Amino acid sequence: MATKTAAKPTAKPKTAAKTAAKPATTSAATTTNGTNTIGSVHVPAPFFKSVAQNFDKAAKALKLPSGLAEQIKACNSVYYFQFPVRIRGEIQVIEAWRCEHSHHKLPTKGGIRYSTMVDQDEVMALAALMTYKCAIVHVPFGGAKGGIKINPRDYTDDELERITRRYTSELISKNFIGPAVDVPAPDYGTGEREMAWIADTYMAFHGGRDINALGCVTGKPIAQGGVRGRREATGRGVMFGLRQATADKHDMKLLKLTPGLEGKSVIIQGFGNVGYYAAKFLQEQGALITGIIEWDGAVINEKGINVEELNQYRIANKSITGYPKAKTMKDSKAALELECDILIPAALESQITSENAPRIQAKIIAEGANGPVTADAEDILLKKGILIIPDMYLNAGGVTVSYFEWLKNISHVRFGRMERRFEENTQSRMVSSIEDLVGRNFRQSERDLMIRGAGEEDLVNSGLEDTMMSSYEEIKEYYRMHKEIGDLRTAAFASAIDKVATTYRQLGLFP
Ligand code: NAD
Repeated sequence: MATKTAAKPTAKPKTAAKTAAKPATTSAATTTNGTNTIGSVHVPAPFFKSVAQNFDKAAKALKLPSGLAEQIKACNSVYYFQFPVRIRGEIQVIEAWRCEHSHHKLPTKGGIRYSTMVDQDEVMALAALMTYKCAIVHVPFGGAKGGIKINPRDYTDDELERITRRYTSELISKNFIGPAVDVPAPDYGTGEREMAWIADTYMAFHGGRDINALGCVTGKPIAQGGVRGRREATGRGVMFGLRQATADKHDMKLLKLTPGLEGKSVIIQGFGNVGYYAAKFLQEQGALITGIIEWDGAVINEKGINVEELNQYRIANKSITGYPKAKTMKDSKAALELECDILIPAALESQITSENAPRIQAKIIAEGANGPVTADAEDILLKKGILIIPDMYLNAGGVTVSYFEWLKNISHVRFGRMERRFEENTQSRMVSSIEDLVGRNFRQSERDLMIRGAGEEDLVNSGLEDTMMSSYEEIKEYYRMHKEIGDLRTAAFASAIDKVATTYRQLGLFP
């Protein structure tokens, strides 16, 4: 069986050897740094290159010693493999990846996506972003990402389950999954159901031997060890991040906007997990959702779209197009260029490029998706005075709550279980004492509100809110302290790289 070497930053990054034991599976490992190498074929790496460009800009400001920046930037391990699955009587060979970008902290963490566009460049770039994202929100993990090159719409549920379980057993056999090793989560094209299949497959191999086995994956259904609030976490985090950003009076003045979310017009690309929940929570905060863009068209209404109603329409009609209370635009890409205060790309990477960036009219671009703005496009947007709230901060709500789920799994107790009743009893006694002192009783509804102890979801949401608020201020502080850093993304990168560099330095590996 192929083994991985232990995480030793100065040693050669671990590699998974080509598997000889399974003739039906092919795999290859590559150690990369800015470009992809598959066998002897050299292919361009646009997304990873774009992340590397951003990294270089920030690393320059930090003046890191030679070698340290290279070590942080490099992807430690990429496991590429192919596996056969019988689909409707025919054998299909499916391509898949798992990339672990950094082992400066373990386990590594990052989603698994199902998409025909997945390739090595993409998983490397997304894994790198995960390293920085975890550092920004103080999640003690390295970054990782995985993908299976399929369109989930082409398969039945039963076929998807077989593909997912087979993918998982490949990861198990190469030690690319485990609560102490590498912990996947949902991403584009995957959700709770796939995470449950992954957990169950892992449990079949390790359940009786590893008491923490359920922590091998996050984003699971509640009954399978998931945590309340994880499903909504990324979208909720987008709302908290935007609430924090728009509260900055100085920044809003520069953009000629009033502070706060109230009344801000918002267009969202992607009405999936991130986009739908971001829309829902922003609307609850008083923002006006004026456009939702999907792959097959967009719906636009300047007076605002009722998010829940649109969701019900989409469920019934399998598309948002034709929603009667808004105008349908067939050209979904063009909808990104409509006027609005906040544009949230929450679907895929590279949606705003140097081609369409000059026509973007939004004042704030809030990156719900990973890498939706290319590095070239960013230069154009910044010159236009647009505020870009970077992905590695803004969509970090998912990994933050995934971290809470992992903590729950390894501590084997639901958050709030031990203290909730105790808190309620203490608060109840306090309220009774106040009632005695003032000589009047509170209304029952007031009393209930005052004595209520925190349940799991309250604690998760509060931990998420605190993380998103304090991390934004940390990035802003970095931005203010380093005058040479001209934008929030570079500040976020610099703050993250600084933290990873500190870990390496404290380990005594670099001066
Ligand atoms: P999802 O599969 O739930 O939703 C994606 C949505 O985008 C779907 O509704 C899909 O139809 C739509 N879409 C696809 N192509 C499109 C196009 N060309 N134009 C407009 N819409 C299109 O995926 P998700 O989990 O919401 O992830 C979306 C993005 O957010 C990805 O970049 C992912 O990496 C990132 N992200 C997700 C999470 C998470 O917790 N799910 C966390 C952090 C980052």
